[in-house]
Amino acid sequence: MKPDVPPLTTQIPILQRAQEFALRTAIADSSGESAYGQLLQASARVASALLAGRADLQEARVGFLIPPSFDWVAVQWGIWLAGGVAVPLCLSHPSPELRHVLEDTQAEAVVFRPDLSGPLEEAAGGRKLFRSDHLLEGDREVELPPVDPSRRAQILYTSGTTSRPKGVVTTHRNLRAQITSLTRAWGWSSRDRILEVLPLHHTHGIVNVVGCALWSGAVCEMLPHFDAAEVWERFASGRLTLFMAVPTIYVKLIRFWREQPSTRRRELSQASRRMRLMVSGSAALPVSVLEEWREITGHTLLERYGMTEIGMALSNPLEGERRPGSVGFPLPGVHVRLVDDGGQPIRQEGEPGEIEIRGEAVFLEYWGQPEATRSAFRKGWFRTGDMAFLENGYFRILGRRSVDIIKTGGYKVSALEIEEALGTHASILECAVVGVEDEEWGERVCCAAVCRPGQTLVLDDLREWGRQRLAVYKIPSRLEIVAELPRNAMGKVTKPEVRKLFEGPGDQGERLPRAEGGG
Ligand code: AMP
Repeated sequence: MKPDVPPLTTQIPILQRAQEFALRTAIADSSGESAYGQLLQASARVASALLAGRADLQEARVGFLIPPSFDWVAVQWGIWLAGGVAVPLCLSHPSPELRHVLEDTQAEAVVFRPDLSGPLEEAAGGRKLFRSDHLLEGDREVELPPVDPSRRAQILYTSGTTSRPKGVVTTHRNLRAQITSLTRAWGWSSRDRILEVLPLHHTHGIVNVVGCALWSGAVCEMLPHFDAAEVWERFASGRLTLFMAVPTIYVKLIRFWREQPSTRRRELSQASRRMRLMVSGSAALPVSVLEEWREITGHTLLERYGMTEIGMALSNPLEGERRPGSVGFPLPGVHVRLVDDGGQPIRQEGEPGEIEIRGEAVFLEYWGQPEATRSAFRKGWFRTGDMAFLENGYFRILGRRSVDIIKTGGYKVSALEIEEALGTHASILECAVVGVEDEEWGERVCCAAVCRPGQTLVLDDLREWGRQRLAVYKIPSRLEIVAELPRNAMGKVTKPEVRKLFEGPGDQGERLPRAEGGG
């Protein structure tokens, strides 16, 4: 049977691919299953409504506020088909943050699902507003413009875990490079079926999950947001082959599993064993989480390292040893090197350096910030701002140079290494380590920790315990017990917020009154 899809003439790589899969299921969401052909048709309708008589959007920015679903993809593809630049908006952002993105990108229009109009009333500021259901019901009337893959496709705002978010511009060619590197490395095929639970204003969900699935002719199941019970339910269905998430999601899934009766635990464990791959990234995966997950599901999480600006760069292998605490080695087509402070390449194992990246996957520019773009590159290499070292051929991430490399008493220490060690303390559920300015030490190592239920922790005991495991200058000299760590919409800890917990003089010494007794 021929698909009922008017052929689209497009040079946009992922849409060209989609035509080959017209009859296959692309998306499964709360409204059922839809084929690639339906997605293409819906996208063309969105494109013609956005064009409204014009020949080409000429890279006009279009924001969209839609939960993960068929409609989300149809709008992303519709913007692309019309020659526009897709600006996916964060569902949990309040009006001022949405307004920042819309103003910064000078978006000409916003597409929104009707029930999400609330925050847009203040944020949209006179821009054209389109209800997604109206766009998707329209007719496809117009000729679509030719869109060369070198054109701008998308602007994503970086997580802002260390500074004010910047708009990262990627072209269609960048996106193709980011996707094909992963589909090759992780063995994607049209037999795959993945569950998408990540927010779709961030590269992890957009490229690694949705982009790779639809490039491969696979099925992407979409939940409107993460829900541990629902995810385990989907694992239990036995239909999924793949899952990708951030470490905090795995922590929540572990907690949910532990709360189930033993027969149910067994069922869930058995079902998840049948999947072919589970991936973790976007933040450091504690070894204890990797081990617990392996116990429960039999899967050794594949940890990888990437960034909005570059897609994914380093990955543990699909086949072969996945080393806990490491992020593996360069992905296909990605050139990676470590450099010292003077920009000289480091060749020696064990010596820390900043990660620099080259390749077709590297973004085009920071939107409207030529100076920031220029200073982000050194002789054609993108400076990630992340520090790492090589250990027996595998890269290990030390953290972001600006917040995670703490200079204390003449030593440079990695917050990530300390967090990993403290995370093994029986009372600590999770923790974040920061350096706080200090006259005596340069920076003082400070730790914000969440205690396990029923547990407490005092600084003296933590320091005593730490002496067996860490060099003395790495052991926190201030401790703050918190109910939860400050995180952004992606679930990543926002270190400037953690630092604020330690503002003020502290006690110059061994303990902080508020640190005691749990809380
Ligand atoms: P984003 O652009 O929001 O994806 O943030 C990218 C940043 O997340 C990187 O620059 C790293 O600092 C951090 N990151 C990503 N993956 C990992 C990982 N596997 N381990 C440690 N940090 C990571």
